[in-house]
Amino acid sequence: MLDHSPRLSQLAILARERILILDGAMGTQIQNLGLSEEDYGGHGSGHVCRHHSEHPQKGNNDLLILTQPQAIEDIHFRYAMAGADIVETNTFSATTIAQADYGMENAVHDLNAEGARIVRRALDRATAMDGRPRFVAGAVGPTNRTASLSPDVNDPGYRAVTFDDLRIAYGQQVRGLVAGGADLILIETIFDTLNAKAAIFACFEVFAETGYRLPLMISGTITDASGRTLSGQTPTAFWHSVAHARPFTVGLNCALGASAMRPHLAELAGVAPTFICAYPNAGLPNAFGQYDEGPDETAAQIAGFAREGLVNVVGGCCGTTPEHIKAIADAVAGQAPRIVT
Ligand SMILES: [Zn+2]
Repeated sequence: MLDHSPRLSQLAILARERILILDGAMGTQIQNLGLSEEDYGGHGSGHVCRHHSEHPQKGNNDLLILTQPQAIEDIHFRYAMAGADIVETNTFSATTIAQADYGMENAVHDLNAEGARIVRRALDRATAMDGRPRFVAGAVGPTNRTASLSPDVNDPGYRAVTFDDLRIAYGQQVRGLVAGGADLILIETIFDTLNAKAAIFACFEVFAETGYRLPLMISGTITDASGRTLSGQTPTAFWHSVAHARPFTVGLNCALGASAMRPHLAELAGVAPTFICAYPNAGLPNAFGQYDEGPDETAAQIAGFAREGLVNVVGGCCGTTPEHIKAIADAVAGQAPRIVT
């Protein structure tokens, strides 16, 4: 049995005292920077990326860790100052599988290690100002492939990726995050539980190498009107599929706004004897794919989760900003966290 990182007991003590705050979306903040292809590639910024690809890089938001590190650090800092206790690395797509679209597979280790270091720097700046402890969550996304479903309707047995492909890719990512000093690993936006199981397996392989285990946060995504994940699971089934990982938190993020997420969150909170984490989108996207829900609207709904005793960690997903996180932190301040028995 591996030792737990001391960060787990620190987090668990805090989580019993109050509702902890997770940060919000990177995408909208990055969009506001109005970066060009040159900026993404690092040409003209002074931070020339030593990784090279023939592919255009505009839209490769994770690459900005290496090519626009100060801008990324400043976004993390704004979230920390808005009240986030836990801030995610900008590494949602930093696996060889997702980076293959950009020909940047070779950058994966640096993206993750630097991604964690940048968050640590931002959090240390914030802590120097107010003395509050803060935690770096190494963000692990679902990748753009799914292990349990075929992308080809005419060939249901076909798989674009295997469990082992995912296990190896996630292992590289998690090794980088750990090398950069991540305090915990957040496996998020899970639409295919088999992908998540490969990520969990990879985490335990890396923990066996380092000799200690980091806390895990596991967050699924309900994509179906009937309240299931893309791979067809209800929240209860999802919990039973990941319970073996003994996660610090299990929860839901993305796809839905807070109101639509509520019944699924309540179901999960009813079955999972661990801390519950919720970070919905800022409502549902409009016709242009943008999110219109203001900070107070999102915060009021999340305050409802807290009043019902459903949550231990709350934050925001797509469309949320530092203003949303500040409003959420204010709205749940003084409310009791969900009791975990
Ligand atoms: Zn989202």
